[in-house]
Amino acid sequence: MLPQEVKNVLSRLEAAGFAAYAVGGCVRDMLRLVTPHDYDITTAARPEDVLALFDGCAIPTGLQHGTVTVRQNGQSFEVTTFRADGPYTDHRRPDSVQFSHSLQEDLRRRDFTINAMAMDLRGTVYDFHGGRKDLEKGLLRCVGDAETRFGEDALRILRCLRFASVLGFAIEEETAAAVENCAPLLGHIAAERIREEMTKLLCGDGALEVLLTYPRVFGTFLPEILPCVGFDQQNVHHLYDVWQHTAHAVAAAPKEPLLRWTLLLHDLGKPGCFTVDEAGQGHFYGHDALGAALAADITRRLRFDKKSAQRIELLIARHMRQIEPTEKAVGRVLRQLGEEALRQLLIVKRSDASACHPDFAWQTGHLDEAEAVLDRLLAQETCFTLRHLAVNGHDLMAIGLQGSAIGQALNAALDAVAEGTLINEKEALLDWIANR
Ligand code: ATP
Ligand code: MG
Repeated sequence: MLPQEVKNVLSRLEAAGFAAYAVGGCVRDMLRLVTPHDYDITTAARPEDVLALFDGCAIPTGLQHGTVTVRQNGQSFEVTTFRADGPYTDHRRPDSVQFSHSLQEDLRRRDFTINAMAMDLRGTVYDFHGGRKDLEKGLLRCVGDAETRFGEDALRILRCLRFASVLGFAIEEETAAAVENCAPLLGHIAAERIREEMTKLLCGDGALEVLLTYPRVFGTFLPEILPCVGFDQQNVHHLYDVWQHTAHAVAAAPKEPLLRWTLLLHDLGKPGCFTVDEAGQGHFYGHDALGAALAADITRRLRFDKKSAQRIELLIARHMRQIEPTEKAVGRVLRQLGEEALRQLLIVKRSDASACHPDFAWQTGHLDEAEAVLDRLLAQETCFTLRHLAVNGHDLMAIGLQGSAIGQALNAALDAVAEGTLINEKEALLDWIANR
């Protein structure tokens, strides 16, 4: 099952007298008949032995943890010396690591039984913690005592939920209890790591189930979701409470990080905007704007790149606005947002609509029509952008406009030109803008 390059590395180590194995995620994936995306190797050889043995194709990438990257035939493999972790005081990384001579010791430090198996050159699997059985049962179980293991490194809590989502696995009872009990320790984990795990989790097949089951864990770093849990919308269009609706909307979206994050955050403004009308129907006027502001704060805390953060904020701010399936209406939004953001907005609106109530699923038809109009407009190549306009911001400043009025005037002029009610000539445009 092992690729030839991995076998080459293992046999070279063995020939030099060092035990060596493929380990962790790659063994898990091979056993469940999925092609691994990378192969990690664990060995009795010390980093200096590995560097000497693979002289010229070895890079010391993480010597303090015993890791050397070996290049073979254009591929890279992380070769790490058998290790036992010292005590943990910061709930994330061991204070020290000791190199070891024992595979058994190395496997004991790994997080889950399904990730704690090794395979040698001949395909023999070393499984001291029942990983194979758990893999067959579809179970995530900590190696050793779950509370101890999550206490050592709190990131394992989120890794557990991530694997549950991506693999569609259940979480064994004691491990699941420890996930809940230890969740506050996630406060010790760097925002980037939380974001990365959460992104993988959101894009997993099992995201719906995991989101529905563990909101309190997510609430340790996204406290904004807690008021949504169990929040009755009191509205005929909604079958679910706000959090259930959110989870269904995430699951309805394509498995693309930006879209799934947007849907996760899209309704966080609801609890803060709730009103009930005389007929007893619940409403959430303004939740799109409030939600966009909450999302902006969250993406800043979780250190999203600026471009993604702004796009998420925009999509949430716009998610309630109707887009009529007419050339005029779609054309306007197209000119404001550009094609990419508009397509994303249509997906966000579709995912949102499909997670409300099955009786109102027809609403997504409206969005399909809008998308068809968009395709038609783009095919006609009649769409203008601000760059095609015969005036720019400087021209408008020259006639006395300032600040946001400039952008508004440019967009209004662009709409008028695109819709054929104004000619695209400088004089005419300035005149029209001055008399607006
Ligand atoms: P993926 O498919 O996402 O790469 P993986 O299991 O290979 O999954 P990695 O983060 O690449 O995950 O880690 C490789 C291996 O290292 C794991 O299979 C596990 O044995 C071990 N490991 C990784 N992170 C931890 C951790 N925080 N605590 C304990 N063991 C860990
Ligand atoms: Mg891996």
